Amino acid sequence: MASDCLFCKIIAGEIPATIRYEDSQLVVFDDIDPQAPHHFLIVPKKHIRTTLDLAPSDNELVGHIYQIAGKVARDLNFAETGFRVVNNCNDAGGQVVWHLHFHLLGGRDMSWPPG
Ligand code: 5GP
Ligand code: ZN
Repeated sequence: MASDCLFCKIIAGEIPATIRYEDSQLVVFDDIDPQAPHHFLIVPKKHIRTTLDLAPSDNELVGHIYQIAGKVARDLNFAETGFRVVNNCNDAGGQVVWHLHFHLLGGRDMSWPPG
């Protein structure tokens, strides 16, 4: 846990969030500023700063994140219509919270290219 990290504090229960799924490796909670009818953040419990900080030993974790993205989308009935999984990396990529996370967005048509 990084003591100055917002998502570490949510994982530790120090800051409230609406948790949709949790296991030993990750948590899924509602984004505070939803950009779609369904907008969740899939967040590893391990403090990893950005995608660039992933190690080969994290490969199973990243695969698990995608498994859980599909599970949450299925469980909440927006998998078949379609959804998007987004990771923003560094400033130009739009990252503002410096703890690795994946946005799971669904429930509306998505445009392409993204902004
Ligand atoms: P990023 O731009 O880093 O990829 O995404 C960070 C996300 O965290 C944003 O979508 C933002 O709305 C969300 N966020 C920021 N602060 C909080 C918070 O305190 N609680 C929750 N649940 N989400 C937050
Ligand atoms: Zn953290």
